[in-house]
Amino acid sequence: MNLFLHICCGPCLLYPLKILKEREIDVTGFFYNPNIHPFLEFEKRVGALEHIAKLRDLKIIWDPAGYGLEQWLSYINGNTGTKERCPFCYEMRLERSAKEAASRGFDYFSTTLLYSKYQRHQLIREIGEEKASRYGIKFYYEDFRQGWKEGIEEAVSLGIYRQPYCGCIFSEAERYHKRMKRLAERLGNKEVFTNESHA
Ligand code: SF4
Repeated sequence: MNLFLHICCGPCLLYPLKILKEREIDVTGFFYNPNIHPFLEFEKRVGALEHIAKLRDLKIIWDPAGYGLEQWLSYINGNTGTKERCPFCYEMRLERSAKEAASRGFDYFSTTLLYSKYQRHQLIREIGEEKASRYGIKFYYEDFRQGWKEGIEEAVSLGIYRQPYCGCIFSEAERYHKRMKRLAERLGNKEVFTNESHA
């Protein structure tokens, strides 16, 4: 079986790749993540994946558009709240991955998003299956979350950069929510961070 694997980041690749190799599946990676901001973070994550690809001898197809802040913001179309933007974000990446897989003659496509305990697993599965069917290929589903701990331990032991937030500029801000509130209090402001749906 040949599988076109959308890779969200290097650390999330380690466990799924191990399992897929054990199953003797021929994997080609695809890095398409216009959701990763700002640029220096994007560059770090690309570097981490380059490192792993070299270690694991994995072919990666890199999105030729590179850093995609404007495209991503345009795609989510002002739906900046957590509940609203993530489905757009999955949709954008899985649509493109399925299309690319089909045009390159792959039978299956999948995504390392299925490894993360922090993503909406069932929604990713549903979107993946819908995209696969649209492009006449199959979606490879496996619950890679069972290897969550193992994947982290491997990333740590290899010294791979592990990102502190999901990817978009909104998720970067969310991790500082308490700090923003403290800053607002210090400045005597009622609000510095206004979008409560990010909490
Ligand atoms: S939190 Fe993650 S999945 Fe959700 S929109 Fe941001 S980058 Fe995409």
